[in-house]
Amino acid sequence: MLRIAIQKSGRLNEDSLKLLKECGIDISNGVNKLKAEASNFPLEIFFFRDDDIPQYVEDGVADIGIAGENVVFEKNKKVQVAEQLGFGKCRLSIAVDKREEYDDVNYLQGKKIATTYPVLVQQFLDKNNITAEIHEISGSVEIAPGIGLADAICDLVSSGSTLFMNGLKEVETILKSQAVLIKNANLSPEKEELLAKLLFRIHAVRRAKNNKYILLNAPNEKLDEIIRLLPGMKSPTVLPLAESGWSSLHSVLTENDFWDIIEKLKAAGAQGILVVPIEKMIV
Ligand code: ATP
Ligand code: ZN
Repeated sequence: MLRIAIQKSGRLNEDSLKLLKECGIDISNGVNKLKAEASNFPLEIFFFRDDDIPQYVEDGVADIGIAGENVVFEKNKKVQVAEQLGFGKCRLSIAVDKREEYDDVNYLQGKKIATTYPVLVQQFLDKNNITAEIHEISGSVEIAPGIGLADAICDLVSSGSTLFMNGLKEVETILKSQAVLIKNANLSPEKEELLAKLLFRIHAVRRAKNNKYILLNAPNEKLDEIIRLLPGMKSPTVLPLAESGWSSLHSVLTENDFWDIIEKLKAAGAQGILVVPIEKMIV
């Protein structure tokens, strides 16, 4: 039995549960309990505050866990990052009053910075040879400058609207963060095997999300040119259409070069292009 710790409620809870579901893992009971068990995979799910997850994984209370890199790096526990999960994206940034003139990090020399991330802020200051006072607070960091508690703050940002509403501007990004799967450093061989199974499924789910299945029709004399535009998993499938002189082509495209290739395909004479999501992708 593998034990995973995920956030009980908050920004990572839903996406963590969704990922397990997409991996075909059914979790019967609700999230109000402290733990749940999967019905079709040897997995037990513990629900914790995200801040506690690295500690619990280090201690072996849970074997693996899902938390933001911001929390994992701040807590600095003896855990290993097994996989980046691509959700919970945000950045840890320094912000100051928007009326301040900020040229570079030297602005922070001798200033007071309010944050819930003292370790990461100190690392950033050391790297830049800045001496500043870190004032650790546990929440509502963004109001600190307004009430005279600090000159600057360091907090998580996604859209920046919270900063804006508090009259602040973002001046430095000290970490780009996303959710990661962390693991205990001394898992038994049986647990390692279960984790490998889970990771295999996670890879298939994530790969599928980054790829689209594409179908298109093309006149036969254009086939070579069109095939050269399609990277595909191996080589594209080509099927004759009922109308002579035409073929249907099937392939896989990655999200990144998607629009670029679609335009080239059209220019090369492709018609009736269909793009379909892929549910799982095993290579
Ligand atoms: P808990 O009660 O579990 O301690 P919390 O209030 O500390 O919850 P949330 O606000 O739910 O935590 O954020 C959890 C994680 O989601 C963050 O640590 C971060 O990794 C990620 N995250 C993504 N976007 C944002 C954002 N805009 N603001 C804050 N966190 C974000
Ligand atoms: Zn938290």
